[in-house]
Amino acid sequence: MSERKKGSKWTYDEVVEYVNANSSSTLLDGEFFKKITPMRFLCSCGEIFIVDFHRFCSENKRQCNKCGRKKTGEQCKLTNKHIDDFLKEKN
Ligand SMILES: [Zn+2]
Repeated sequence: MSERKKGSKWTYDEVVEYVNANSSSTLLDGEFFKKITPMRFLCSCGEIFIVDFHRFCSENKRQCNKCGRKKTGEQCKLTNKHIDDFLKEKN
C-alpha cells in the first residue's frame, strides 16, 4: 500500500497544503476528487472563484478573475513597452 506514485494522485490534505503554500487563496471545498474537478477558492481579496486544481497548478490560476486581470494587465503593459522600444529602434 506504500507504493503510491508521488504526483499521480493527490489527497485532499496535500491539495490544501499546496494551496496554502503556493497562493494566498483558500480552498473552500471540503473534498477533492480529481485534478480536473472544478473547486471553489476564496481569493485573498474576498472574492470566490472556481478553478480546477490542474489549472491552479499549471496555469497559475491562483486568484480570482479580478486579481488575475490586474496581474495580467501589468504584464501586458511591460510587453507593450518592450514592443514600442523595439519598433522605435527599427524606424
Ligand atoms: Zn481577488
